[in-house]
Amino acid sequence: MSLNIIVCVKQVPHPEHFSRITLDPIRQTISREGIPAVINPLDLHALEEALRIREELSGKVTAISMGPPQARCALEEALAIGADDAVLLCDKSFAGADTLATAYSLACGIKKLGRFALILCGNETIDSATGQVGPQLAEFLGIPHVTSVIQIAFEQGSSLIVRQALEEGYMKVRVKLPAMLAVAKGINQPRLPTVWAIMEAGSKEMQIWGASDIGATQDMIGLEGSPTHVTGIFERDTTRRREILEGPPRQIAKKAVNRLHELIAT
Ligand SMILES: Cc1cc2nc3c(=O)[nH]c(=O)nc-3n(C[C@H](O)[C@H](O)[C@H](O)COP(=O)(O)OP(=O)(O)OC[C@H]3O[C@@H](n4cnc5c(N)ncnc54)[C@H](O)[C@@H]3O)c2cc1C
Repeated sequence: MSLNIIVCVKQVPHPEHFSRITLDPIRQTISREGIPAVINPLDLHALEEALRIREELSGKVTAISMGPPQARCALEEALAIGADDAVLLCDKSFAGADTLATAYSLACGIKKLGRFALILCGNETIDSATGQVGPQLAEFLGIPHVTSVIQIAFEQGSSLIVRQALEEGYMKVRVKLPAMLAVAKGINQPRLPTVWAIMEAGSKEMQIWGASDIGATQDMIGLEGSPTHVTGIFERDTTRRREILEGPPRQIAKKAVNRLHELIAT
């Protein structure tokens, strides 16, 4: 069996720099300018799973991302880790997309890639974290999907048995290929790219497709194609009263208890 596997990769702000993200109350947008970006952590697990399947059954792994030109770096990293190919969907008209418009654009790109057996996504991102893109993508492509996947096993023929994590255990689900699986953290331990692979990835060819290349309908993409719109964006007021208690640990503990009693009483 040889499989075409597509991995959806989103570039997100580096979690260590989240505190530098600011809100623009006029344009109602989030400003990520100058903040280092990384591949969404769960997408690394999706990529790792794709590589393991390719190693076991042979096939091809294609990483795809919709994003601004700098999302190219995320795809270069995916190539360095082991993806065979990478496609960046990049066009000004994709800007302002909500999850539905994002999923539609990805679906158009994936249709252009041709036949595939499996799409792997992260269960959610660390910046918007809706968990909607994978299932919406599956709906656009008319294929089944399973979320919170923590194990994938191939059956003879064209189906999979996957473990879906539940709050108190897991559920085994049989799913026919082609399918979309959104993976959760426990599924594997992502590998790191070698220095040599990082250097080589920069010279690998990457396809960059705009809206017209993927035959996307203009009123289904970007801001225009987004049924949800941000109508207000607010920064939480984090001004707090601060008191520093000084002294040896026992005394501080006593002072803290007394202060808490005082504060509860007021
Ligand atoms: C009303 C509205 C307006 C928005 N406007 C903007 C805007 O102007 N600019 C902006 O940057 N963002 C904007 N966003 C955020 C944007 O919609 C999300 O970044 C995007 O749709 C992905 O959603 P998510 O991060 O919740 O993905 P999730 O659904 O949590 O992601 C699950 C998985 O889907 C895949 N995936 C998600 N997004 C992508 C992608 N882009 N490429 C490849 N794979 C992907 C990954 O595998 C990921 O792990 C807006 C959102 C809303 C609701």
